[in-house]
Amino acid sequence: MSVLVYVEIGKGKIKKSSLEAVNYGARIAAQLNTKVIAIVIGDGDFSDLGKAGANKVFKLNNEKLSNFDGIYLTEAIAQVATAENSTVIVFSHDFTGKEVAPRIAAKFKAGIVAGAVDNPIISGESFSVLKNVFSGKATALYSISSSKKIISILPNSFPVKLDGEAAELLDFNVNLDNVTSPIKVIAVKKDTAELNLSDADVVVSAGRGLKGPENWGMVEELATMLGAATACSRPVADMNWRPHHEHVGQTGVAIRPNLYFAIGISGAIQHLAGVNGSKTIVVINSDKDAPFFKSADYGIVGDAFEVVPKLIQAVKNFKANQN
Ligand SMILES: Cc1cc2nc3c(=O)[nH]c(=O)nc-3n(C[C@H](O)[C@H](O)[C@H](O)COP(=O)(O)OP(=O)(O)OC[C@H]3O[C@@H](n4cnc5c(N)ncnc54)[C@H](O)[C@@H]3O)c2cc1C
Repeated sequence: MSVLVYVEIGKGKIKKSSLEAVNYGARIAAQLNTKVIAIVIGDGDFSDLGKAGANKVFKLNNEKLSNFDGIYLTEAIAQVATAENSTVIVFSHDFTGKEVAPRIAAKFKAGIVAGAVDNPIISGESFSVLKNVFSGKATALYSISSSKKIISILPNSFPVKLDGEAAELLDFNVNLDNVTSPIKVIAVKKDTAELNLSDADVVVSAGRGLKGPENWGMVEELATMLGAATACSRPVADMNWRPHHEHVGQTGVAIRPNLYFAIGISGAIQHLAGVNGSKTIVVINSDKDAPFFKSADYGIVGDAFEVVPKLIQAVKNFKANQN
C-alpha cells in the first residue's frame, strides 16, 4: 500500500502547489501507516520533496512524457500506482490535475474528489472530503469508499511544512509503446513569468475595463513593485490581450493569494469562483455598482487609468521612505 502524489516542477523548482499536495499525502499516509511516493517528470532540485513528507521520489522516464500530454501521463501514473499498490493518488487541482485526475479515476474505476479544501476524515475504507461547490459559495462533504481514491487539492488551501527527512530518488521507466495519443503538439510556448500564478502571495489582475493589451504596462509595473504575479479575466485571455495561463476563475486557474487586486473586472460569479478564497481583495472599478465590490475588502471607485498610476506612485513613495 502507498500514497502516490503527482508533482510538477517549474523553472527547476518544485511548485508550491505540489509541495502542498505532498504534505497532504503525508498526512493521509501517517493515518494509514504507509509510505508516500512522489512522482516527477524532468530535472530539478527535488530535495524539498523529502522535507515535505515523501519517502521515495520516482523520476519517470519516457520520451512521450516530455509534452505533458494527459493521455501518456495518465498511463504513466497508472503504471506507478499499480506497481506500488497505491490506494490514494493525490494531485494539485491545477491544469494537469484537472486533466489527469479524472482520467486516472476512470481508469481505476475509483472515486474522486476534485478541489478538496480540507484533510479527509478517514473511517475504515471510507474517506469524507470537503470541497467547494457552487463556485465557492458553499462547501460539500463527499464520501468515497472505492478501493482506490483520487483527490486533487485546491492550491493554497494549506500552508507548506518542510520538516521531513531526505527522500530516496529512483528512476522509474514507464512503458508507453502501446499508447497513442490523438493530440499532436504543434508548438510549445514556455511561460516566462518569474512568478508562478498559483504560488504567488500577491496577484495584480485586470479585466476588460483596461480597454486593450497596450494598457497592461501599468498593471505589470504595479505587479513588479509589489513582487506580484499578473492575472486577468477570461475575456481578456480569449481576446489574446494576455496569455491563457493568466486567466483566473471557474474555467481558469483557481488562486488564493494573500492579496488580490482586481482592476476593471466586473466580478462575475465565474471570475469570483477562482479568486474569492483570496485573503484580502482590493477592487478598482469605475462603476460603483460593479458586483465585485460586494466581495471586496477595500474598494476604490474610480477610473483605473487615474487610480493605478497614483497607486504606483504611492508604493514608490512608501518604498523610498523605508530606505
Ligand atoms: C461557463 C462560463 C465560464 C466562465 N469562466 C470564467 C472564468 O474562469 N474567469 C472569468 O474571468 N470569467 C469567466 N467567464 C466570463 C464571466 O461571466 C464574465 O463575462 C467575465 O468575467 C467578465 O470579464 P471582465 O470583468 O473583465 O469584463 P466586463 O464584464 O466587461 O467588466 C469590465 C469592468 O471594468 C469596469 N471598467 C470599465 N472601464 C473602467 C475603467 N476605466 N476603470 C476601472 N474600471 C473600469 C466596468 O465597470 C466593468 O465592471 C465565464 C463565463 C461562462 C459562461
